[in-house]
Amino acid sequence: MAGGPATAFIAPNSGAHRLVAPAVEPASPCVSANPRGHSQAVTAAVAGSALAVLARSGSRKNRRHARKDVRVVAARSGVPEGVYCEAKEKCERRKTRTVYVGEVPVGSEHPIATQTMTTTLTHDVEATVAQVKKCADMGIDIVRLTVQGMREAKACEHIKKRLLEDGYKTPLVADIHFTPKVALVCADFVDKVRVNPGNFADGRKSFDTIDELSEEDVQEAKDAIEEALTPLVLKLKEQNKSMRIGVNHGSLAERILFQYGDSPEGMVASAIEFGEICRKHDFHNFIFSMKSSNPQVMVNAYRQLAREMYKLGWDYPLHLGVTEAGGGSDGRIKSAVGIGALLLDGLGDTIRVSLTEDPEFEAKPCVALRGVAEGALGKGVKPFEEHSERRNGQFSRRKCEFPIDVPLNQDGSVLARMSVKELADLDTAGLCNRLGLRLRADGDVQKDWKSVDAVVIDGMLPPGAGVKLKTLLDVPTGVLCKAGPNVPEGATVLMTSEAVAEGDELPERLGGYAVTFTGEESQDDMDAVLQKASPRFILLKPTTRNGRTFIARRFFAQLSQLESGKSVPAMLWFDYAKEDGKDQDDVVVEASADFGSLFVDGMGEGLLWDAEDLSSDELRESSFNLLQASRMRISKTEFISCPSCGRTLFDLQETTAKIQARTGHLPGVRIAVMGCIVNGPGEMADADFGYVGSGVGKVDLYVNYDVVKRGIPSAEAVDALVDLIKEHGRWSDPVEEEDVEAEVGAVAVL
Ligand code: SF4
Repeated sequence: MAGGPATAFIAPNSGAHRLVAPAVEPASPCVSANPRGHSQAVTAAVAGSALAVLARSGSRKNRRHARKDVRVVAARSGVPEGVYCEAKEKCERRKTRTVYVGEVPVGSEHPIATQTMTTTLTHDVEATVAQVKKCADMGIDIVRLTVQGMREAKACEHIKKRLLEDGYKTPLVADIHFTPKVALVCADFVDKVRVNPGNFADGRKSFDTIDELSEEDVQEAKDAIEEALTPLVLKLKEQNKSMRIGVNHGSLAERILFQYGDSPEGMVASAIEFGEICRKHDFHNFIFSMKSSNPQVMVNAYRQLAREMYKLGWDYPLHLGVTEAGGGSDGRIKSAVGIGALLLDGLGDTIRVSLTEDPEFEAKPCVALRGVAEGALGKGVKPFEEHSERRNGQFSRRKCEFPIDVPLNQDGSVLARMSVKELADLDTAGLCNRLGLRLRADGDVQKDWKSVDAVVIDGMLPPGAGVKLKTLLDVPTGVLCKAGPNVPEGATVLMTSEAVAEGDELPERLGGYAVTFTGEESQDDMDAVLQKASPRFILLKPTTRNGRTFIARRFFAQLSQLESGKSVPAMLWFDYAKEDGKDQDDVVVEASADFGSLFVDGMGEGLLWDAEDLSSDELRESSFNLLQASRMRISKTEFISCPSCGRTLFDLQETTAKIQARTGHLPGVRIAVMGCIVNGPGEMADADFGYVGSGVGKVDLYVNYDVVKRGIPSAEAVDALVDLIKEHGRWSDPVEEEDVEAEVGAVAVL
């Protein structure tokens, strides 16, 4: 490796060349806030740099459990400061070489290629051919098939032949886990082979029983990888085909876990090891991926890999994806947060949106994300100074002082906008529905898990409006409105930065002021406004839809330098007017990319999402989903469900829906629903409970990484999962919906 071999902490008194796993130290300050109370290493590190790896010693199980407590400290040398993409102030694609997948070119000189994966049994040639065609017809450029054995490898020959006979040149990719021999066979029939460095060669090797790993052990493992991978590399080179080095956060090899912990650093090291073997044989037709079900980890891992490639002078394309994103709006938002953030950085040459849906449905969000990337190209602001360590991979949230008289949520606030007319037209029940509040049978109005935190009232308040707003303030829900005679006590007066700058001194008032900035203000102008208004919080509302990520980065860079503003909570207020050719799905993807690109970097303490194409219910629901996808505010059960593939052992979509219906009311609980045992448990890196197919009609249940119930008939497995959640004290009964309809008549209309 050009940067030298990755080394781990060498204990001074443990004899020469011993790599040890000492006891866990307290969490680093450079960790992400995590609602479950776990810390998560997100510090910068580079494979080949001097690394100090701290991991809990003991069994693999303990090390797996220690994943969230692992701290990795990097001492870097010679890495260009903060370089992980071409520019921080505008969207510019990272320059890569072109790698051909069949006839589809992948790289910075070409449009971003879309891809998906079949869910049929690969050995069912008819069904697989039909599904590939359906995906191609929907606009997917590349299709992957699971190839778990020789039967599937041989089926690839017939699938390819049938597709060509029917006029479909869609490149096929074989997805390989554990089986180098199978990879060699199917390489003759497909256009690209995906290997997983976590399990291609040493995935089954266990380091359960050791507490130390010598440099010789590491070298031996690397030699074994080289021995297993080289024949495939040579074959692909000879046939001018390509490879994806597909690292997965959830299935890192035990050795890598031991050396680096469960971290983006381990993912990078794993990718680079495989890349070096390819390069040793002068094979360069490869693409990297660094997937995780956690968009924040995924973004960090890709950026770290890109940073390392800049350092090494490598120019291999990137395949982007968030694994086990789930389905519906959740899956689209989660994928768009991670993939979108990277595309706006100019990273990514081919993308897959993994949904727990039929694969052809992945085409639309993929195309929408490609549209986001293409639309953003060249957009941004003038170069500016960024003082944070963000570009070096260090994540931290802003340290804010939250007001005591405006009920913001410190994990991320959801704001909504409502016109004066709408306010006037709504009765109590309507207002509660609109804002996600609970109207109890006794007429009391209460907050729920998904109630908005504050509402912005558009227009001048008429006489009498204050009575209705007083009810909201009592909940408490924040109320923001223009200054005027009818503003109730406790409401927050909303002003533009311009109005504050030009206006008189502002008197102290309960609820105070909130100020909107466009992001175009100079740092001095911001300072003057912030000093004058001492706002409870501020809102960044750019006047353009173009380059919002970069406008906001500059805004937060300036804010961080101001005593008057560095600890003031800031909400992102982005609106999405109707645009020809864009529908609701496109807006969800675009907005998730915009907001997500900032939240993953800790910029923004909440959001106000305005969009003409979405109803107020959809906007509220999507806002909470976005905060959850960005690992900020957890308002519902988190489902990590695999997209399913030819290995899936049950109807994943139906089962996931059943599990969601029974357990969807448990905020903070994470449940993985995985189609198979082969790659399943390793992939559910973050889950509290796992529901994993273990045979036809059989399910294993997991608590964290431990299988606790085996071979449960699938008809009984959802009940058994619920029992397990109860046994572990994570269950609460769903709140019964009260008969609001019956009560409305008895409640005075506000
Ligand atoms: S967990 Fe198993 S079934 Fe699900 S996508 Fe991964 S390999 Fe396929």
